[in-house]
Amino acid sequence: MESDPLPLAQSLIRVPSVTPDGGAALDVVASWLEPLGFGIRRMAFGDGAARVDNLYARRGDGAPHLCFLGHSDVVPPGDESAWSAPPFAAEVRGDLLIGRGAVDMKGGVAAFCAAIARQLEVADGGSVSLLITGDEEGAAIFGSRAVIDTLVKEGETWDACLVGEPTSVARLGDTIKIGRRGSLTAKARVSGVQGHTAYPHLADNPIHRLLAALHELTTTPLDDGTEHFEPSNLQVSGLLAENVAANVIPAWAEATINVRYNDLHGVESLEARLREVFARHAEDFALEFRSSGDVFRSGSGRLTAMLSAAIEEETGEAPATSTGGGTSDARFMWRHCEVVEFGLAGRTMHSVDESVSVDELRKLSAIYERVLREYFS
Ligand SMILES: [Zn+2]
Repeated sequence: MESDPLPLAQSLIRVPSVTPDGGAALDVVASWLEPLGFGIRRMAFGDGAARVDNLYARRGDGAPHLCFLGHSDVVPPGDESAWSAPPFAAEVRGDLLIGRGAVDMKGGVAAFCAAIARQLEVADGGSVSLLITGDEEGAAIFGSRAVIDTLVKEGETWDACLVGEPTSVARLGDTIKIGRRGSLTAKARVSGVQGHTAYPHLADNPIHRLLAALHELTTTPLDDGTEHFEPSNLQVSGLLAENVAANVIPAWAEATINVRYNDLHGVESLEARLREVFARHAEDFALEFRSSGDVFRSGSGRLTAMLSAAIEEETGEAPATSTGGGTSDARFMWRHCEVVEFGLAGRTMHSVDESVSVDELRKLSAIYERVLREYFS
């Protein structure tokens, strides 16, 4: 197998695997890993249009077991005419490889696969696996979560997991992620009594009650941050009230609230806080909650230390540790083993002309290679 990540990244980008349709790109990954002695499992979940294809490849059955977690789906290219090169052509211009997924995260998958090809024998005795999902950018229900749940039920265990998402900020190696904030969404519906705006004493305006609750929630800080996390933050992301006529007080008003929270909170404590605030401003209200990932901090073990050292050796600088940004599929793995996230610089991800420096792509592969050598030595 090719041991340079550039041609591997190019062949992945040339498969336009727009989420949740990452399947075809998984064929490419399978065709690389099979000759290297990996047992390949395709794990599809969901039916019809919701069907998602995933790949789990494992080599070896001993300990320790290191898993690489990534995805082969990409976000849509948007207006293709705005790109300076076709988004699925994987053109190289100067030092830049241009294409959808170059950074997020076909480049990362290629870098890890190339590193394995160069260091295949190091893991003899232990186990290396790759979990590549076809649905990270989409709903993510039938992606990593479903694969991990199934494997855990079968008795699969991991000692550590490296997530290859683009965590670097300005340049490769400046940041690794050792945890993530939680994300909780609430849909709040306040009911009142409909009536004439000229006779408000005969009505009960739910908009006023809802606004009072939202005002309290948005002006009272949840906390000041913790050692590893920035302060929690609550945003109102939707507002809706029945507005049939200007002289009618509506019967109900709704808001959508999203909380990104740190390790001072949990789903239950936040739900209780929201209920308590709404109860003070409204008599008749309903709250519906949806958690899209609980807060976690996992990266403080052996893999994280080795990764930091490998980055410093390759780039000359130790990485900063971060827990910022959105959620990632690390949220499905942290309960099972040490998880740390490290990948390319994410400046251009999801944007027009997504691109990666070929030099950084090779350097990332060299860092992954060092980690493989160290982890199994
Ligand atoms: Zn990604």
